[in-house]
Amino acid sequence: MINVFQPSLGPEELAAVEAVFSDSWPGLGRRTTAFEAAFADHLGVDPARAVFVNSATAGLFIAVELLGLGPGDDVVMPSVSFVGAANAVCAAGARPVFCDVDPFTLNPTAADVERSLTDRTRAVILLHYGGLPGEVAEISRLCRERGVRLVEDAACAVASRVGDRACGTFGDIAVWSFDAMKIMSTGDGGMVLLRDGEEAERARRLAYHGLNHHSGMSASRSVARRWWELDVAVFGRRVIGNDLTAAIGLVQLERLPGFVERRRSVAAAYDRLLAGVEGVETPPPVPENHTSSHYFHWVRLAPGERDRVAAELLDRGVYTTFRYAPLHRVPAYGAGPVRLPGVEEAAERTLLLPQHQGLSDAEVERVSEELVSAVARRPPHRSEPDR
Ligand SMILES: *Cc1c(COP(=O)(O)O)cnc(C)c1O
Repeated sequence: MINVFQPSLGPEELAAVEAVFSDSWPGLGRRTTAFEAAFADHLGVDPARAVFVNSATAGLFIAVELLGLGPGDDVVMPSVSFVGAANAVCAAGARPVFCDVDPFTLNPTAADVERSLTDRTRAVILLHYGGLPGEVAEISRLCRERGVRLVEDAACAVASRVGDRACGTFGDIAVWSFDAMKIMSTGDGGMVLLRDGEEAERARRLAYHGLNHHSGMSASRSVARRWWELDVAVFGRRVIGNDLTAAIGLVQLERLPGFVERRRSVAAAYDRLLAGVEGVETPPPVPENHTSSHYFHWVRLAPGERDRVAAELLDRGVYTTFRYAPLHRVPAYGAGPVRLPGVEEAAERTLLLPQHQGLSDAEVERVSEELVSAVARRPPHRSEPDR
């Protein structure tokens, strides 16, 4: 089976984990601090603003809490978004408002976001589909003009840039994921970046029992006595990262440029192998001054064909998928009769092909050949127009 996503964990990560074992301290410690600093450096931001947590979803819940979102507040997000973003909004009693996306890039345009803003809108949660930055710069400008806070769900965009500016540095808060399917993985893990220093301190408290830094289980040099006493500032959770996962993260971050480079050549190979194939549209090129992380690689198939092709590929040992199933159709989020034509089209015709740094050239060729044959087996009656 050729996997659609797959992490690259090897002897270097294992050696880093072994070093943590010999320290006998797998919890939050110096490696966590080092990973936060290295990740901040990768983004070009102040290391005090990066908080390592145990998932991006935990980061999204913290973001919603930090922004004080609740009943009566609307949060605009593309319908093609991650389930955890909508859950975080709904759990706080706020309402997700789903906007349309471009049917081929699967990112919303600034106009799509603007159309969904009302005077109840307090925040926008944006992602960078498959690693494409999209109109994040325009959308962050729009949010500033309207006094709306911007959260970037940068889980797809660990190495994405607009010019020399990293995705995740456009919003007030950003989150990344290092779960098992992401480009760089720590097994589970996430990073939260806060533009504001005071909010970064609040995020740290929310991630660890709501404790003020000097109190509780973290003895610090400044406390001379009774360092075990508690100073609870807010009712926080316990969603911190640890030195075991941070040790893996430090190695993965060093390997990241190589991962992205390989993914870029996989994407280029697919585009070359599938160019001009009838019934397969290759994705739009990455705009001139944008850098993609190449997290997803997708094609657009003829209407009505995607599900059949996915099933046939699976039969032949090629695992494909679609991300992210539209949230505006999910009853739990108050699915109503909203029409989002770009989302509907994307959700019916988009197929994500295997894309990861572990793919060999031969595997990319095999996927392309299987795709071309599966598409060519299109039943003849399907090409007739509807009556
Ligand atoms: C993977 C992913 C997440 C979730 O990350 P976790 O670390 O598993 O919580 C969030 N948003 C997007 C866009 C993702 O792709």
